[in-house]
Amino acid sequence: MRKKCVVCGREASIVIERARVGFCKEHFLEYYERMIKKTLKKSGFNGGKVMVAVSGGKDSMALMYALSNVKNELNIDLMALHIDLSIDNYSKESRNIFEKEIKKLNIDYIIVEARDYLGASIPEVVKLVRKPACSICGLVKRWIMNKIAYDMNYDYIATGHNLDDVSTYFLKAMFTYRDDDLLRGNEVISPPRPELKMVGRLRPQIFITEKENLFYCEVNEISYIDFECPLSKGALLKKYKTIWETALKLNPMSQYNFTRSILSIREKMHRDDIKLKPCKICGFPTTASNEICSFCKLKEKIKNSTIDREDR
Ligand code: SF4
Ligand code: ZN
Ligand code: ZN
Repeated sequence: MRKKCVVCGREASIVIERARVGFCKEHFLEYYERMIKKTLKKSGFNGGKVMVAVSGGKDSMALMYALSNVKNELNIDLMALHIDLSIDNYSKESRNIFEKEIKKLNIDYIIVEARDYLGASIPEVVKLVRKPACSICGLVKRWIMNKIAYDMNYDYIATGHNLDDVSTYFLKAMFTYRDDDLLRGNEVISPPRPELKMVGRLRPQIFITEKENLFYCEVNEISYIDFECPLSKGALLKKYKTIWETALKLNPMSQYNFTRSILSIREKMHRDDIKLKPCKICGFPTTASNEICSFCKLKEKIKNSTIDREDR
């Protein structure tokens, strides 16, 4: 038997398994934006200048649209940021999609190129450094987002981390005994720390799944990049994600409850903040014991190398 919309009784277009409810398209949009508002408000967010980081993927495109729709209610001064990573066609297409969609919204935006900050493109750096592409790319994006938002006096950066991402990140941290990774980041709100030149973070989709983000894009006719980044092949996080298929069959609440449990244990621990210090080179925060952040180390490595720059 097909499910009905829990609000109006029409045939449901999507079923939210963890809550065992269905929604028609219209009421799904209301539910989705209500979730964004509820998640932020419950975590103590009460407005400010927010820069939403938009890659062109379904999660961040949905976030940009949803925040644009709820910004007045949440007292948000919103701006969008797109970082061009120079990853072949993937980056070209992502940038085109961002440029096309942002014009439909009444918000300011900025596009920057990672290589202007790093001195090389992401594919060039990946060839040089023996680390997984996504881990290099992630650290570069985090540094650039923080710098731009800090320099432009923004209070928060909002990112499109969804329930599938965050739950899998925690799962992988446990499976690989990276207990520190269980303790840091990935909460709904990380407050700004101006004394450390650190902009706050918002993750409003932390309790929303990929499936819901995709449906939000489809119902709103929002374009998004629908092919995978060529550097993501073999990414470990993607493999760990498949574990949820089994767990969710067993218990549709498992992923949601798992994530909530870790975040709640963390709160209960009243842990001391991980010690952050300003990087000796760029002045932005780092946990490194020699007080030189990973971005500056990477940049130093690039400077001392002979990267083949033909594709620049
Ligand atoms: Fe960067 Fe990995 Fe995302 Fe590609 S998949 S854009 S390498 S983080
Ligand atoms: Zn309905
Ligand atoms: Zn640094």
